[in-house]
Amino acid sequence: MAPKESITDNFQETRKLGGLLALEIESGRRQVPASGKAQVFCLEGDLGAGKTTFTQGLLEGLGAEGPYTSPTFLIMKHYEVKIQNPKTKVQNIYHFDAYRVGEEDILSLGWEELVSDPENVIIVEWPERIEKILPERSVRIKFEWLDENRRKITFV
Ligand code: ADP
Ligand code: MG
Repeated sequence: MAPKESITDNFQETRKLGGLLALEIESGRRQVPASGKAQVFCLEGDLGAGKTTFTQGLLEGLGAEGPYTSPTFLIMKHYEVKIQNPKTKVQNIYHFDAYRVGEEDILSLGWEELVSDPENVIIVEWPERIEKILPERSVRIKFEWLDENRRKITFV
């Protein structure tokens, strides 16, 4: 990932940052060669910090079929990629919001299978809630509220 730490001045910039991550995924540069597992991105930060906004840019950049709604009341939302990238083979995107749930709830949605499939990209809001079941290879992205329109986004 090019910048380790970014400050965005409005929501469009945060969305664009999600698009940049999509480009990295699409190029195949992020995937650990032959890891044979899903790529997992954990978005940490308080309510309103921009996690869902970032996710929308990521979904769009990966060519996920919209609309991109917040999964807060769903726990998980599944998206299919319109045209599979022949290089990365990413086919499905699962957007989790663990705010109101715990590890058992997420496991019961087939979590173990989902994280084992290299054709999946998995995005988790509130990963703190399900720390014990997150794969060690998960990529951490931290969101901080600076003021009404500015957010700090750090790739840990
Ligand atoms: P979260 O998923 O972390 O709770 P959301 O992305 O749902 O956060 O909400 C962020 C809110 O803050 C949105 O209403 C968005 O328009 C607003 N916002 C203002 N400035 C920014 C920014 N720089 N980046 C992201 N969101 C911003
Ligand atoms: Mg959210």
